[in-house]
Amino acid sequence: MAVLRFDWNTLYGELNGCTKCRLCEHRHSIVVSDGDPHADIMFIGEGPGREEDEQGVPFVGAAGRLFNYHLEEAGLDRRSVYICNVVKCRPPQNRDPLPDEAESCLPYLRAQIALVRPKVIVCLGRIAARYVYDRDIQITRQRGQIKKLGAFYVLPTYHPAALLRREELTNDFVFDLCTAKKLAERIKAGEQIEL
Ligand code: SF4
Repeated sequence: MAVLRFDWNTLYGELNGCTKCRLCEHRHSIVVSDGDPHADIMFIGEGPGREEDEQGVPFVGAAGRLFNYHLEEAGLDRRSVYICNVVKCRPPQNRDPLPDEAESCLPYLRAQIALVRPKVIVCLGRIAARYVYDRDIQITRQRGQIKKLGAFYVLPTYHPAALLRREELTNDFVFDLCTAKKLAERIKAGEQIEL
């Protein structure tokens, strides 16, 4: 599917009241993004949870608070990165978005990527990676591996919610955040990136 070349106003206009998939039925908010729309690093999760749906902001629940903590640990300020999800409305019971729901919402994500034009995209978890790479990846095996996809460098890592269940993933997660930060700095400095 082609990237929709929206400007921000058009994107928000299209999103407003969107009923393109069944996830519109029980949502309280359309959760679009948080952070800097000119960020060098863009984080993509899978979809809003209960607190995100209530507040209209991504990554504000328990996983989001842990994410904030580890962003700081990696020397990143949440306000200086861009944070969004594959689907903008909460899947019931926090289930994974279904393929048709994700496909309906992907033009918005593609427009966000085209408008932000980040240097590095970090996929938070398997579902986000699935739709950014357009294929399934094994997050435990492929996390931390940087790939060039079109104009962007992409780095998959764990979803912060996985760290709540498995604390032993924390070191790798923080390492990946540090990798994304260094990579963005190197690209900004005009360095040639060898993969
Ligand atoms: S999840 Fe996306 S496509 Fe579905 S209703 Fe919400 S904004 Fe529209």
